[in-house]
Amino acid sequence: MKPPQGPSDHADLTLDDEGWLAPAAHIVRRPSPNHDARPDDESPSLLVLHNISLPPGGFDGDAIIDFFLNRLDYAAHPWFENIRGLRVSAHFLIRRDGAIVQFVPTCLRAWHAGASCFSGRERCNDFSVGIEIEGTDDQPFTDAQYLSLRRLAHAVRTRHPISDVCGHEHIAPGRKTDPGPCFDWARFAREGGWRPEQLPGPPPHGPSGLQQ
Ligand SMILES: [Zn+2]
Repeated sequence: MKPPQGPSDHADLTLDDEGWLAPAAHIVRRPSPNHDARPDDESPSLLVLHNISLPPGGFDGDAIIDFFLNRLDYAAHPWFENIRGLRVSAHFLIRRDGAIVQFVPTCLRAWHAGASCFSGRERCNDFSVGIEIEGTDDQPFTDAQYLSLRRLAHAVRTRHPISDVCGHEHIAPGRKTDPGPCFDWARFAREGGWRPEQLPGPPPHGPSGLQQ
């Protein structure tokens, strides 16, 4: 077990002109080739939260990082065949101990949302920042992760005109389930000062919740 992080470890996180986090303790930069320009250089207005673990439920090692850098050893675990050849990324990953890994600067488009729709607008990658939280749909996230998420979200909304936050499950219902029922939206809202109208309502259930 790594020691828990104190509140000062991520104090005053800031994004530079390109959208990279300034160097700080427990901040790691791993530039991913899986990105491109945002159409019209739009500044992102949506924050999308995800969960990921590779293999699912495993929190050891750097498979997520390798995956986003297109260098995952697919032979290392049978489940990795499910994602062979995918070219994806997120702007950030928050590991179980709260460490933050950045793959793509926020001014550029990361490839995290796929086919998606928010408030009638498709291709959410165009106008969103994606944060992966290391975890699963059925395990609580750690206190260190909520702390890092609060500070990271603050840095993003200071740099960009973020008006809304949602989960991948809300913009790709029926296809995606993350961050899932264990993510505590009320805690996220309380700790980050988000208003209810900026956050998703109850998750969609069944075909009626599907967006075209
Ligand atoms: Zn996702």
